[in-house]
Amino acid sequence: MTNSLFMRIRSRFPADLSSVLIETPTGKTYSYGDADTYSAKIAGLLTERGAKKGDRVAVQVDKSPEALFLYLGCIRAGLVYLPLNTAYQAGELAYFMGNASPVIFVCQPHRAEEVKAIADAQGVKHVLTLGMEADGSLIDDMAPQAEDFPAVECADDDLAAILYTSGTTGKPKGAMMTQMNLWSNASTLEKLWGFERNDTLLHALPIFHTHGLFIACHCVMLSGSKMFFLPKFDRDQVMALLPRSTVMMGVPTFYVRLLSGGDFTADVSANMRLFISGSAPLLPETFTAFVQRTGKTLLERYGMTEMGMATSNPLDDERIVHTVGPALPDVDVRVCDEEGNVLGTDEIGVLEARGPNVFAGYWQMPEKTAEEFRSDGFFITGDIAMIDAKGYVHIVGRAKDLVISGGFNIYPKEIETLIDKMDGVVESAVIGVQHPDFGEAVVAVIVPEQKDTLSEDEVIGSIKSQLANFKVPKRVFFVNELPRNAMGKVQKNILREDYKALFTK
Ligand code: AMP
Repeated sequence: MTNSLFMRIRSRFPADLSSVLIETPTGKTYSYGDADTYSAKIAGLLTERGAKKGDRVAVQVDKSPEALFLYLGCIRAGLVYLPLNTAYQAGELAYFMGNASPVIFVCQPHRAEEVKAIADAQGVKHVLTLGMEADGSLIDDMAPQAEDFPAVECADDDLAAILYTSGTTGKPKGAMMTQMNLWSNASTLEKLWGFERNDTLLHALPIFHTHGLFIACHCVMLSGSKMFFLPKFDRDQVMALLPRSTVMMGVPTFYVRLLSGGDFTADVSANMRLFISGSAPLLPETFTAFVQRTGKTLLERYGMTEMGMATSNPLDDERIVHTVGPALPDVDVRVCDEEGNVLGTDEIGVLEARGPNVFAGYWQMPEKTAEEFRSDGFFITGDIAMIDAKGYVHIVGRAKDLVISGGFNIYPKEIETLIDKMDGVVESAVIGVQHPDFGEAVVAVIVPEQKDTLSEDEVIGSIKSQLANFKVPKRVFFVNELPRNAMGKVQKNILREDYKALFTK
């Protein structure tokens, strides 16, 4: 047996456990010792409730220091952590519970009754609650547990987490992340981005996603440094904390919002050594405006749920606009055509990646997994890219039609399926349209059975009750027919062109 992910992370905690790991915007601090004790008690409680090595623990809670300790408690007990976006509604939760069959579900206190009913129907044994103010049954029930819990031994290919990512078929797929997937990426990035004990990370990302949970928190814990933990991106809070921070990780939307006010200056960011951007394309305008305003260059990197990070612009070498940098030292990337033939420099095709960071497959979907891997182990990312002569990767589009709004991934098919079920609808196409704040906004284009029988409000109202808010179309349009190519495929590129100026003019 090798060391588990938890043991490896724990071995990087500073010797002085009173060192601060987390400071909240109200000035409350949590030490590395707190992370150790909390994770032990949580591991003890989950184990007492019957969770055994390899069992899934699903978690849909607001961001808080305790939520991070819950992640640590799970991996300490050898359990598989399964974080869920708080925006998910009942129907979506039933699917996740049915698909992943977690032993325990931890939810927000105000949703306990609703979640309990779904859990009962899906055969999930225990529901615990965790609120944002260190409240809920998880906190109450862990109190009597021991302050130490011997970490459960795990092999490198044992699972540490399952992260759901929306599928092109509309059904989310559970990406299985092993102990080594998470560890290799964490240790590579901590070194690559130069994290040190005296760093302070400004953490305003959600922690149900790989970016905020693994990429950000692992870099901090592996370097024994500290983070400001904001419940969400709040421009005023971020502005107030920037002078005391050294690193920030964000989605492009964060940087657009910072740049939207004249108070974001070189002075206010003077203490910052690094601003990192990812999870969605960074517009060249944002990159350029950022340099002009702060004198600093954003570091853009690229990754996805299934593999954590795969490429990054360098810390010390040139960061090139509109590129996501070369492959990480332990990751191989290549660009291939549809048949898997490797393409040359500057040729455009689908990006493929292989390395210790690449996931073990989709939970209980062996066929889907097989479709997305080449026989030599490369994962077909679905992103359209090219690699230049310097080895820098340029992401030029998305093969799979994904819309990214405010950093969240949205697969049009899921929304189209719901719209198509509505009375009076012949068919629909959902696209992403450039939006100054969200990066992209969801827009639905519908062919109705009869003119003027359906309204935009009716469609939005109906979707709203069934899907997370970030997936609800911002605008709905009615047309006589959708543009199609000779193969009968809807030409979304034409629709995107038709509506491209919707939010920018
Ligand atoms: P997720 O699984 O939520 O992390 O989303 C992964 C997807 O986000 C990738 O497949 C890309 O399409 C997109 N993505 C992530 N980082 C970048 C980037 N720096 N530039 C362009 N697209 C990105």
